[in-house]
Amino acid sequence: MNRSRRVLILGGTGEARALAGLLAKEKGLRAVTSLAGRTAAPELPPGEWRSGGFGGAEGLATYLEREAIGLVADVTHPFAAAISRNAAEACRRTGTAYIRLERPAWRPERGDRWQEVENIARAATALPISARAFLTIGRRDIAAFFARTDTNILARMIEPPDNPLPSHVEILLARPPFSLEGELALLKERGITVLVCKNSGGDATKAKLAAARKLKLPVIMVERPEKPAAPFAATPEGLSDLVLELIKPPRR
Ligand code: NAP
Repeated sequence: MNRSRRVLILGGTGEARALAGLLAKEKGLRAVTSLAGRTAAPELPPGEWRSGGFGGAEGLATYLEREAIGLVADVTHPFAAAISRNAAEACRRTGTAYIRLERPAWRPERGDRWQEVENIARAATALPISARAFLTIGRRDIAAFFARTDTNILARMIEPPDNPLPSHVEILLARPPFSLEGELALLKERGITVLVCKNSGGDATKAKLAAARKLKLPVIMVERPEKPAAPFAATPEGLSDLVLELIKPPRR
């Protein structure tokens, strides 16, 4: 097992930025955050960072060895499945410690009208005929809804999609966090009849669920993909403790 005190944080989330901030305070430990490089104006983490894919598990394994990484903290989004799979595999091959942040999933509460579906394609077919849907699934997956020309879609995302959209799809650009008041006003003003979202968990985007509950709107909830089994924590603080436990300072 490689015992280097250099940590690679796989990022792209608020928790990854928080972990980078916590680790930056630790003497003798060097952390670098990796971003996928998809967004033109990403929120940057404190400390060292890099951007862009590694080239699959093999490319990542080469990077881990070249940079003498002792531990990979996977703090990617719950729906970023490929990078987590690659990271677990690259760590196995190189004998690097691999740990994950597991953000707890949202659970339906009393009054919720959720239909859970296993992927985005199923969410698109589950939309009721002539629905006025509010989509909060990001910009990459909205193509699954292009064939539903019987519906009207309002899709919220941080940056616009790369390709032109069909006329039944409208984009709303906004960055979380979102408030309950704001979500209620939006759903009412736009006459939304159904909400479609991924079970991302976390507080920054959960107000829409409370708003849907209040307005008695149905929610089509896309379930999470499976992530590799690994030691995990639910918060950046918990994960920071795990990092320090696994990468102990050398004995004097
Ligand atoms: P993905 O499908 O799991 O990954 C696709 C490819 O993108 C990976 O194979 C890898 O390329 C590259 N990649 C992903 N995350 C990376 C990282 N942190 N550093 C370097 N390369 C990375 O991931 P995704 O769903 O496209 O998400 C991309 C990024 O956006 C992630 O960092 C994720 O945390 C963030 N994000 C995703 C969502 C979502 O809903 N999926 C939401 C919010 C934020 P190579 O194979 O070339 O290494």
